Amino acid sequence: VAAASAACADSSSAACEPLPVLGSDVLVPLVTGGEVTYAALDYAASAPALRRVWDDIAAYAPYYGSVHRGAGYLSQLSTDLFENSRKDVAAFLGCREDDQVVFTRSTTDSLNLLAAVAPRGTEVFVFETEHHASLLPWEQREDVTVRYLSAPRSPRQAVETLEKALAGRAKGPALVCVTGASNVTGELWPVRELAAAAHAHGARIVLDAAQLAPHHPVDIAEAGVDWVAFSGHKLYAPFGAGVLAGRADWLREARPYLAGGGASRKVTRRDDGGVDVEWHTTAARHEAGSPNVIGVYAIASACRALTEAGFEGLLARERQLIEKVRAGLAEVPEVRVLSLFGDDAPRVGVLSFVVEGWNSSHFAAALSAEYGIGVRDGLFCAHPLVRTLLDSEPDEPGECGAPEAAPGERSLNAIRVSFGAGT
Ligand code: PLP
Repeated sequence: VAAASAACADSSSAACEPLPVLGSDVLVPLVTGGEVTYAALDYAASAPALRRVWDDIAAYAPYYGSVHRGAGYLSQLSTDLFENSRKDVAAFLGCREDDQVVFTRSTTDSLNLLAAVAPRGTEVFVFETEHHASLLPWEQREDVTVRYLSAPRSPRQAVETLEKALAGRAKGPALVCVTGASNVTGELWPVRELAAAAHAHGARIVLDAAQLAPHHPVDIAEAGVDWVAFSGHKLYAPFGAGVLAGRADWLREARPYLAGGGASRKVTRRDDGGVDVEWHTTAARHEAGSPNVIGVYAIASACRALTEAGFEGLLARERQLIEKVRAGLAEVPEVRVLSLFGDDAPRVGVLSFVVEGWNSSHFAAALSAEYGIGVRDGLFCAHPLVRTLLDSEPDEPGECGAPEAAPGERSLNAIRVSFGAGT
């Protein structure tokens, strides 16, 4: 940091050229303006809500009522907003006509839902480089088989690795799980090609779009994926709501993810004392209980804002910011930027690095305390990927991973900066 700051005294440094601000007046974060005293560069963890989203929530908040559960005006209004939010999300994701949009709590919840509804005997193919949210849910099922695929070193190798694995697959249902943009490197994965490979071998594919959707258009039909999962809190909406959208059949045929009111259409007592339940076959089947209507409405608001603004300006801005950070980091010889696919691989506004000889946790703490720069440190809930990138061995487990290294030792964890609307 000291070296990069010193370089900024010399304004010819590429790291110091001023950047134009984002042109859109739609993608304005809630907290903005005034003197900038703190740089929040951890959008990949949670992105600050947009002012537009907050305004929509504030306008609706005095009127909310129960969804699907009342004849009164507030209930009618809330039900309309809830169901219209489903349509907005479907439009944002380019859903096919018969796709279902299920509201969940988060990406993690969405992928656990898909794991719960996958047919018995499904063979799941997942790269070991995935975020734990897409790496681990399948392990919860004893009647599915998980095939872990080794870390590819190029998008092409990712497709080849998958094709090879699928070629030897057993007959029966199969599912490929892949992340659109890495939460560690920001690198884009070849989703369309992986989807084509999956389908060529009769497998289905789910896209973990937690990091892709906030930065990049996601078109479920055009990408050819079967399901998409993402979280509201990374898409400029508040915490607590997420989405699983895609093929209806597995969702319709499986037992409800949560059993209770809202998921059941008809419940009758049997003569033998038990109950017969007729479950909904729509998205409601997996949405038992009173839903998070504000969270869902906020996601729809964010989807509308991003659609209105378009991704072009945001992407261009993030590209500039990444280049600026790279130029600054390049001036510090001890810094190593982490990459699976190579320096020139296309990426979203997410970048991780280590400073050799430094404990990343200490470094991140210093960035916050001394420079007012908020970043993420650790293993980013993608332990196998970060260890591959650091060429390190498993260490002490940590909460989403923050093993210690003594000062002067090789880093066992990394630092991540990430951008979005408002940076
Ligand atoms: N997938 C990826 C790629 C992520 O980056 C994250 C969160 O960091 C998740 C899934 C899980 O998201 P959530 O914590 O909102 O469930």
